[in-house]
Amino acid sequence: MTREEKALMVLRSCYGYDSFRGQQWDIINHTLDGGDSIVLMPTGGGKSLCYQIPGLMSDQGFAIVISPLLALMNDQIDALQQNGVPALALNSEKSETENRQTVNLLMMGKVKLLYISPEKLLSEIDRWSSAITERICLIAVDEAHCISQWGHDFRPEYTQLGSLKQRFPDVPVMALTATADRITRDDIAKQLHIPDARLFISSFDRPNISLNVVQGSTGRVKFRQIVQFINLHRGESGIIYCLRRKDTEKMADELTRLGIKAEPFHAAMSVKEKMRIQRDFINDDLKVVCATIAFGMGIDKSNVRYVIHSNMPRNIESYYQEIGRAGRDGLPADALLFYNYGDMVTLQHFAQQSGQVQINMDKLRQMQQFAESGVCRRRILLNYFNERFDHDCHNCDVCDNPPERFDGSRLAQMALSAIKRTGEQAAMYTVTDILRGSNKSELIEKGYDKLKTFGVGHDLGYAEWNAYLLQMLQLGLFEVAYDENNHLKVTEFGNEVLYGHRTIELNRYERRDIKKKAPRQADQAAIHDLTFSTSPSKQMDKALFEKLRDVRKAIATASHIAPYMVFSDKSLQAMATEKPTTQAEFGILYGVGKMKCQRYWIPFTTAIRDHLSSLNG
Ligand code: ADP
Ligand code: ZN
Repeated sequence: MTREEKALMVLRSCYGYDSFRGQQWDIINHTLDGGDSIVLMPTGGGKSLCYQIPGLMSDQGFAIVISPLLALMNDQIDALQQNGVPALALNSEKSETENRQTVNLLMMGKVKLLYISPEKLLSEIDRWSSAITERICLIAVDEAHCISQWGHDFRPEYTQLGSLKQRFPDVPVMALTATADRITRDDIAKQLHIPDARLFISSFDRPNISLNVVQGSTGRVKFRQIVQFINLHRGESGIIYCLRRKDTEKMADELTRLGIKAEPFHAAMSVKEKMRIQRDFINDDLKVVCATIAFGMGIDKSNVRYVIHSNMPRNIESYYQEIGRAGRDGLPADALLFYNYGDMVTLQHFAQQSGQVQINMDKLRQMQQFAESGVCRRRILLNYFNERFDHDCHNCDVCDNPPERFDGSRLAQMALSAIKRTGEQAAMYTVTDILRGSNKSELIEKGYDKLKTFGVGHDLGYAEWNAYLLQMLQLGLFEVAYDENNHLKVTEFGNEVLYGHRTIELNRYERRDIKKKAPRQADQAAIHDLTFSTSPSKQMDKALFEKLRDVRKAIATASHIAPYMVFSDKSLQAMATEKPTTQAEFGILYGVGKMKCQRYWIPFTTAIRDHLSSLNG
């Protein structure tokens, strides 16, 4: 048997997968040859297999996996044990006795994967006998960007990991991260003393995540759109990111009142409360979390089906990291971003107050360009991360619905004239109100209802004007005086347009009703690609899927693990499509390894048989 055949056998029997993805095999093969590597892959790309398989393929040896997040470590071990893999952790949370047992098992060669925190490893390794150290077949450093001061998540305890290569020059080192920039990458190689490490860079594209932006919606309109969207995703897990703590509370409260159970999550909550919410979310007991950015770091949940940004994030890095939490199982997932002027003002303010005004303003501007874009959004994202991506993705709102360009000079003249007539003493939303001829008392008090431009734009809606004004701001027709109550000031360029010396083009605003997209061809193909034997004519039985989800939940609750660890959504879909009724049929499905087949074929095939007979009877 060749090495690759052996690896594929392990992949099938432990994980129930039939082939490696992307560069996985190259990385594993290079490691088995003894080479060091730096692996850059996006979240959900499949990093874990790269270090797990070499550990599993080793006869008596084990792989060390260094990871900073205890919660994540425990989840990974639970998931591996479900697959019958001897994986254990050494960390400060475990009792002395437990840790001693682990060390004994290591000595006997009974462990394949050892998860450990950096500080624990460094304090422990000196005490290990050669019976243990000789068995180390790989040192994997997960979240390797933590070693770099340039990265966004520096952890001092990582810096000492450099000594490992010197101590064990013959053991391959694999550094893995989802942070791609060159400085961090070079720093990882330097700090870990692996100058000759081969670099494996995967595409950062996450093609299964549909990218959508809604411009201009605020307040109740925005809330209604969020509710509509969640209703289309009933029963599915999702995260709603909000800018401030109070927004998370309000959002959760209002959703709950409408019968959509949601909870807030923010930095000011107690550790215990935060842990509870994370657990409930992971266990599918809580479907919707309204969170500030703090949520999601230590979560490996594969079936988050959507991420909503109720407010615009500060930069593209954060945005991409946050939406990356959706669809880790590779099934279609949605990202929905709301973008309005109020957020821009708040974010500009944050950026101005930050230590690094220039950088943060630039990053915000790029985020805004993404939100305003008239070209494929995935192109913008991937190009931002220096990846060449030169075609349209067909899975973003711009590709689905290319904006129509039109001569917006007349609209701009109305807006600019209104701004001028207030003596440049009005902020954006007031200008919208003037254009629409609103009867708000503030307008009348200020005499704005007497302006010549009052109500000239009444045939356009509020959100519509907001969206156009944002585009005009972006084009540089006027500026916002942040130090002057955000009053709008017409620029030189604005004057040229106002007096008819220049014309401008705008993207036609379209009122977006939030509707469910028909599954794309590609998604259909992905769904049908789940087993050896799926014939493309087979359809997933949605009612059966729901029943299988209940079976999964019952098993998870009884064995105190998260439902996604029993089976991923993708595996349930395979079951609901193939409808296996025997152990043999069950055992070849996506994600059904040997161990899980033995453990679970009876409850799942029983549910399938019951379902089929209820259809026939
Ligand atoms: P990362 O650590 O890069 O965020 P994971 O290792 O958690 O990603 O992998 C993401 C998901 O993809 C997991 O559910 C994993 O089981 C699945 N996966 C990884 N490799 C494969 C493969 N070769 N075939 C099928 N599924 C895979
Ligand atoms: Zn696109």
